[in-house]
Amino acid sequence: MRKKVIAGNWKMHNNVQETKDLINGIKEGLKEFKPNCEIIVCPTFTNLLTAANELAGTEIKLGAQNMFYEDKGAFTGEISADMLKSVCAEYVILGHSERRTIFGETDEIINKKILKALEKGLKPIFCIGETLEEREKNLTFNVVKNQIVNGLKNVSADNMKNIIIAYEPVWAIGTGKTATKEQAQEVHAFIRELLKEIYNSEVAENVIIQYGGSVKPENAAELLSQPDIDGALVGGACLKADSFLSIIKAC
Ligand code: PEP
Repeated sequence: MRKKVIAGNWKMHNNVQETKDLINGIKEGLKEFKPNCEIIVCPTFTNLLTAANELAGTEIKLGAQNMFYEDKGAFTGEISADMLKSVCAEYVILGHSERRTIFGETDEIINKKILKALEKGLKPIFCIGETLEEREKNLTFNVVKNQIVNGLKNVSADNMKNIIIAYEPVWAIGTGKTATKEQAQEVHAFIRELLKEIYNSEVAENVIIQYGGSVKPENAAELLSQPDIDGALVGGACLKADSFLSIIKAC
């Protein structure tokens, strides 16, 4: 049985005080019920240490939203895996569509980041997904396949237990348009089958595949009830403790 994983991608939101308030809101809410999933919060770099302190002693895990693939050096503005580990990050979101489209990250760059994260003991949340144009041209499976094959190049079967895949159709991110449970399930099943071909059935059966794209309290339960959807990567709805908690409850 795969455990469900709900992760919150805070994107470029919240200052130090807002970070404390949001985490405390989540902690308060979790006193009311026992979550049936793993919970990860991914604040901005500048709030990771604050978040780590607030999360100490809880079951909630900490993730970053990006990192660079070099260890150190003249890379102005970049953050290394060791730096993330030094502020207690356990996960790192890599390949998010905003990184791919706004910041020009290619599959090759994302692959280097994934390999470095794994080498340093960070767990990547590896995002993939097609644009609306690609879906309308029936290219969804091709696009997802290429992103997986290229992004996971040289990742061993053994290391796949340290990776979460997040299927996030680009047209559903921040748009309020969610994939239907059937659309999401179809792609998740395809990804699992692909991982069986690339690796083996053990990897395919055990890998966590989250869905992301306008997940909110109203649609979380039906998406999470699908057999191959193992959790959610949540953007907008993770910025309020109540809505994030409702999604956690949906597990
Ligand atoms: C995301 O940024 O990963 C995301 C899924 O955002 P939203 O939930 O706002 O669509």
